[in-house]
Amino acid sequence: MVLKLAIQKSGRLHEDSMKLLNDCGIGIKNGHNQLKSVADNFPIEAYFLRDDDIPQYVEDGVAHIGIVGENVLYEKNKSVDIVEKLGFGKCRLSIAVKKTDEYGDARFLEGKKIATSYPFLTQDFLNKNGVNAEIHEISGSVELAPGIGLADVVCDLVSSGSTLFMNGLKEVEPILQSEAVMVRTKELTEEQQSVLNQLLFRIRSVRKAKRNKYVLMNAPNESLPQIIKLLPGMRSPSVLPLAETGWSSVHSVLSEDEFWDKIEQLKAAGAEGILVVPIEKMIV
Ligand code: ATP
Ligand code: MG
Repeated sequence: MVLKLAIQKSGRLHEDSMKLLNDCGIGIKNGHNQLKSVADNFPIEAYFLRDDDIPQYVEDGVAHIGIVGENVLYEKNKSVDIVEKLGFGKCRLSIAVKKTDEYGDARFLEGKKIATSYPFLTQDFLNKNGVNAEIHEISGSVELAPGIGLADVVCDLVSSGSTLFMNGLKEVEPILQSEAVMVRTKELTEEQQSVLNQLLFRIRSVRKAKRNKYVLMNAPNESLPQIIKLLPGMRSPSVLPLAETGWSSVHSVLSEDEFWDKIEQLKAAGAEGILVVPIEKMIV
């Protein structure tokens, strides 16, 4: 019995979803126009689908797990559980108006026509703000709607804002922050749950490794106490003697957020020849 995983067939989430599986050592081939593909070394079968269909497939249990954007997940409002945020496909669903409009707040939307591919989330935003507006659901190129007189306002996905800008619009209110997430169906057998746990363990190890770097440096022995204090490592740094007496090589792991700060302090403390190496997996 294999765990069935729904991923986007093509589009913005496809590459990153495949890369994540690949980084987890799971080899899945995506043949041209293939609907599904079995991994050769892990009990998983991938289903390649339109992202809009993924929440329904997972709710029905046709796919046991899926990778989908939070925006699509909340719009479809299906009964599935989020098991892990995946850190890619980041964007926001935002209200955008014509560049020349003065928005102020949500009351601006009263009586307006709003074009969107997200009618449920848009209506929810209007309700929360006690505003009445007319929603026009369109499935793509929402940013063109105001230019052709179909709507006054749009509610659309934004990452850089350049698409809006090129169409004479400006983002005025984000209503949802989104990224790709792993979802699961409500009912899993013990065996399926155990495969999912193995997969999640690998995903967390890969993502943790990406946030950390392996650093090596040389240091005169007298500055070791100060340098060791700066380097937590996974337990504590490794210190190896160099062939030249009075010098050591120090190895440790540093996280992305403290990285540049720490490198400056290490140099000031006397570290030389600092090497920074990517980590592939980090098992803790
Ligand atoms: P499908 O054919 O699978 O229905 P689609 O055209 O609906 O694809 P894509 O444009 O490939 O969808 O986007 C998939 C997801 O990527 C979005 O639902 C969203 O979660 C995420 N995403 C990240 N940045 C952006 C962005 N700037 N614009 C649109 N989607 C984005
Ligand atoms: Mg879609």
